[in-house]
Amino acid sequence: MKMTDEQFSLIKAQLKNLTGKDCFYREKLKDVDVDAIESQEDFEKLPFTWKGDLREAYPLGLQAVPDEDIVRIHSSSGTTGTPVIIPYTAQDVSDWAEMFKRCYEMAGVTNKDRVHITPGYGLWTAGIGFQNGAERLGAMVIPMGPGNTDKQLRMMMDLESTVLCATSSYALLLAEEIAKRGIGDKIHLKKGIIGSERWGEKMRKRIAGELGVQLYDIYGLTEVYGPGIGMSCEYECGMHMWTDYIYFEIVNPKTGEPVPDGEVGELVITTLKKQGAPLIRYRTHDLTRVILGECPCGCKFPRIDTILGRTDDMVKVKGVNIFPSQIDELLSGIKGASSEYQFMIDHMEGKDICTLFVEADAGANKYELEREITETFKYKIGILVKVMPVEIGELPRSEKKSTRVFDNRY
Ligand code: ZN
Repeated sequence: MKMTDEQFSLIKAQLKNLTGKDCFYREKLKDVDVDAIESQEDFEKLPFTWKGDLREAYPLGLQAVPDEDIVRIHSSSGTTGTPVIIPYTAQDVSDWAEMFKRCYEMAGVTNKDRVHITPGYGLWTAGIGFQNGAERLGAMVIPMGPGNTDKQLRMMMDLESTVLCATSSYALLLAEEIAKRGIGDKIHLKKGIIGSERWGEKMRKRIAGELGVQLYDIYGLTEVYGPGIGMSCEYECGMHMWTDYIYFEIVNPKTGEPVPDGEVGELVITTLKKQGAPLIRYRTHDLTRVILGECPCGCKFPRIDTILGRTDDMVKVKGVNIFPSQIDELLSGIKGASSEYQFMIDHMEGKDICTLFVEADAGANKYELEREITETFKYKIGILVKVMPVEIGELPRSEKKSTRVFDNRY
């Protein structure tokens, strides 16, 4: 992607600002002559920022403005090691709400809608991000947060929620519950806005079908505002990214070199306007690609594909790289296989053993299913797996992101 002149001057001003005061980036870029950066190519030689750098800056080492300018912090989940704390100025909070409002507008949500928000509140950016954007739009917010399915469904019926904001796995759980209770005719949902978790076509069809809604993907991460920096449109062909607030690159996850437009690589983000904790060339670990050409919706903001996986989800078995998205795609072509699966890799007696648990649709012939998936896996991905069909609902559903690949070898 070509960096625009506008983006270049914002980045240059940001670099000047950050290296001119006592902050994280003065130290990080101490060997860089900012005045000598004159082009996109020069910029692409700057060092990347890694999640590990942000952890080391814990708690407030990323803060780039005085305390009196900070109005809030958020934190990325600290399930593995030290959390990352991101400080926000009032302007950052406002910019984020503005981007989020744009996401709702892209989905055709208006101030007449009732927005049912199930992602969590608190240190996490999700719930409050969905809320601020909806309030900026003037819609009615129903700030549920996660959990308590009975109450979720009751509010959804009584308040006639029209927009559901959720992770894909929680949307699926709610859709299944609605079907099970036979209350579909009391549900008024028209649209679902689903967090940027990678999810397959089959799961999308099930949620959309059972809820009777059009689904949209929203992209974001806590380190860069939160959800709301990119959004899919009604044509479901990738997500438009708000490149007046962020600059993105797609790089080869191994070498860090830019990949040609259209090829899969790791998304790297530089913030253009952020004040509290600006980021330069941040490695997101999300795998995606640029989608070329004009979008039929007419929106000029460039697009990336829905997230195809995480660089850290990629597993290597018997010399073959496997991404969860490949398994999604494979299962989506098999009749009788549902969207839910778990892929386990174990090391036994000197060999890597792969087991694929798949939920089988009701009435599917499990013996046939096992045979077909085993053959297709061998043919398409190139390795032998043990396929274990299970009943619908046997694999765990989660309110946050589902883990589908378990590497038990180490
Ligand atoms: Zn579009």
